[in-house]
Amino acid sequence: MHVDVPAKVHAIYDEVLRRNPGEEEFHQAVREVLDSLAVVLDRHSEYAEMKTIERICEPERQIIFRVPWQDDRGEVQINRGFRVEFNSALGPYKGGLRFHPSVNLGIVKFLGFEQIFKNALTGMPIGGGKGGSDFDPKGRSDAEVMRFCQSFMTELYRHLGEYTDVPAGDIGVGAREIGYLFGQYKRITNRYESGVLTGKGLGWGGALVRTEATGYGAAFFAEAMMTVRGETFEGKRVVISGSGNVAVYGIEKVHSLGGTVVACSDSSGYVVDEDGIDLEVLKQVKERERGRISDYADRVASAEFVEGGSVWDVPCEVAVPSATQNELDDDAATVLARNGCRYVIEGANMPTTPSAVKVFRDAGVAFAPGKAANAGGVATSALEMQQNASRDRWTFEHSEARLAEIMRDIHTRCHETAEEYGSPGDLVLGANVAGFLQVAEAVHAHGLI
Ligand code: GLU
Repeated sequence: MHVDVPAKVHAIYDEVLRRNPGEEEFHQAVREVLDSLAVVLDRHSEYAEMKTIERICEPERQIIFRVPWQDDRGEVQINRGFRVEFNSALGPYKGGLRFHPSVNLGIVKFLGFEQIFKNALTGMPIGGGKGGSDFDPKGRSDAEVMRFCQSFMTELYRHLGEYTDVPAGDIGVGAREIGYLFGQYKRITNRYESGVLTGKGLGWGGALVRTEATGYGAAFFAEAMMTVRGETFEGKRVVISGSGNVAVYGIEKVHSLGGTVVACSDSSGYVVDEDGIDLEVLKQVKERERGRISDYADRVASAEFVEGGSVWDVPCEVAVPSATQNELDDDAATVLARNGCRYVIEGANMPTTPSAVKVFRDAGVAFAPGKAANAGGVATSALEMQQNASRDRWTFEHSEARLAEIMRDIHTRCHETAEEYGSPGDLVLGANVAGFLQVAEAVHAHGLI
């Protein structure tokens, strides 16, 4: 069968738009992958015949549910819960839960779609899924968060299982929330099923390095990009946006590799600290006190807080967007490139807009997409599942060495695939094609399901 590939890819995208109206972030994520796949259909006409791409763009299952709970004043609150079980060709659905007021079906679908290819790139046996709620944990007491998590799990538990679907954290979901979710799952099912959630506490089935993994992994990935160019982190000025889990441990690893992170941010603004961000103060402010980034500047003499500004105005050689989707637009990209930025590594999921990616490409900036660079978190979740399944517990050193190896392997795979498919240096194409091929082969092998 002859296939007009560009027209075919276009038609697939048009159908995604038609079938999923208004889901902008999902459209964006699909578009970004489809833009890389013409070269694949050229070589694999069987994927066109069997509509493999079309099937991967359609989630296997989408669950939307009501989450009622009572706040500390006794007022009834209603939130909406989601779990999109996108693709199970490579293993049980795996992906985080996000609790943030911006969460809607389109956001969960974009994240779930990205997760399929990210998880494939790790080389671990995990499918792709994502979930969450428009619940806003900010300003809520521990008791309110617990009641919310219990109500959320009272519906979700029936869809989960260590061989079915294994959630973890994402924005707004950390060890505290995973604890409450696990407790309720155990209570309802009467099973101590460690492998049903990852990101658990270290004392009850959690894995060492899981907390640090996404940030550490992004730094290892950046290091691999530098090695190819005969460079290291030594002496490099780095800016990391955000101040959550990814940013904090990204800063920690960049510092240990010889770079200096001079700025980070939250939704209120950013801090610049020419001496390098003091990690202990940052952890105290953001992790223990759940405070604002301005509190950091109040405590560190060399730091300055800039309210409301863009952290990308701070000159750097390496930028690591680690806050949220579409946080870095083409204006910010132009400023970064003009200021001499040479590496951009996505620590968050899809933080760079498509037009910003184009600015970086045109300026010759080395760019790493999140589905490759931030895969360290979910890869270490798979290591947690592995430890749970064997009732084992690995040391920090062993786990970190595994993570470093996985990140280097992902980089090599993306780099080599880009070369093989005629776009040397294009890690976006390399990640999309390598991730897609791995999933597509399994989808194909399982027949028309
Ligand atoms: N939420 C993380 C991600 O975006 C981790 C998911 C997981 O560990 O399952 O990949």
